[in-house]
Amino acid sequence: MMHQVLVVEDSRAYQNYLSQQLRQAGFDVICADSLLQAKEIIAEQPQLLCAILDYCLPDAQDGEVIDWVLQHQYRVIVLTATFNENVRESVLAKGVVDYILKDSMASVSYLLPLVHRLRNNHNHKALVVDDSLTVRNHITYLLNQQYITTIEAENGQQALELFEQHSDISIIITDHDMPIKDGISMIRELRTTHNPSQLAILGLSGSDDRTMTAQFLKAGANDFLYKPFNQEELFCRIHHLLEMKEAHLEMYRLANQDALTGLWNRRYLFNQSCPSSCSARSVAMLDIDFFKKVNDNYGHDAGDSAIRTIANILKIYFPDDVVARFGGEEFCVQSCAPYEEFTQRLESVRCRVEKTPVVHGDLKIPLTISIGSSQDKGSLEQQIKLADERLYQAKESGRNRLICTP
Ligand code: GH3
Ligand code: MG
Ligand code: MG
Repeated sequence: MMHQVLVVEDSRAYQNYLSQQLRQAGFDVICADSLLQAKEIIAEQPQLLCAILDYCLPDAQDGEVIDWVLQHQYRVIVLTATFNENVRESVLAKGVVDYILKDSMASVSYLLPLVHRLRNNHNHKALVVDDSLTVRNHITYLLNQQYITTIEAENGQQALELFEQHSDISIIITDHDMPIKDGISMIRELRTTHNPSQLAILGLSGSDDRTMTAQFLKAGANDFLYKPFNQEELFCRIHHLLEMKEAHLEMYRLANQDALTGLWNRRYLFNQSCPSSCSARSVAMLDIDFFKKVNDNYGHDAGDSAIRTIANILKIYFPDDVVARFGGEEFCVQSCAPYEEFTQRLESVRCRVEKTPVVHGDLKIPLTISIGSSQDKGSLEQQIKLADERLYQAKESGRNRLICTP
């Protein structure tokens, strides 16, 4: 992923402030203060997320640096001290991502989220639905400029089919009036399975009907724009929708993932449902033996390390299964593999843990785990209860063992 940003700005104060803010946010920054210097940098063909360019430089007073950098296929954000409508139009027409009025240091607070947005846009795919090729091309061009990949459909029906095939679509931008299936009917269908925080939908229409906005929103669109729209309006709306989507995903992750190990947590385990292709679900409960002693003898940090190490081993041995941290030093694996295969793998994990001590700094900490497992029968809760009883038996009968049968 690209993290490098070029800043061309002759005001030292602004350049310093901007580059410091960008570096703090995790970007690599290259600075130049003239067109000449910018040309030298561009000649090296750096990998750039974007270039932030001052409209007026001592050796390029009328935006020449913008043309130069755009010619080399980089994404450009323009900084300008004064703005009038003509400059705005001409700059946007050149194909820049956005422009920013450099009226105070505070303008950086608009710029930074924009650069973050560009970086995150690599993770998003948009489905553009319109029966007009010209409109599709225009939207696709605008989105690609912001690193959003696109696929296109010419009516609602085709869009639904493409949506089925591409599970990674995060936003749909759709017209209403189209042959075969219109936009609003398509949205109604999509909303039976995908809620607005999972899938963002932006409606677009050139209709004169002033009730269009309400119709789109009631059908389940997140937002709506009348055509023709200007590019800034489109970007602002798309940015809001993608921000919301990312925030929702992050919230889901925080609620369902264990912070120490990155494994799923108990909440996820009990809320998920086995894939429909799974005919027999097996479950295992695993617990580190005498873990209290690890904390007592080596310290709590070493204990945390041990928990992380066991979690990583489980991720490696059960890549296709649900691995959760159940509690402190207790884990649960839910698998759809045949029971025999599953228990063999559990046994391999047990051996592996026994043989290879956990490394924590200079320490080597010997560990063992006890495991109880149960075969497909009853609810997940009942299966877990049975596996837990067998885990208890494993502990009682000497630890460092797997009990997988009555
Ligand atoms: P047994 O073999 O019977 O399982 O004995 P044990 O000592 O492993 O089990 P016990 O349940 O008595 O103790 C578990 C300990 O795990 C107690 C608790 O302080 C520690 N623990 C729980 N969560 C964490 C954690 O996130 N980090 C660390 N370092 N320790 C933890
Ligand atoms: Mg234990
Ligand atoms: Mg325990």
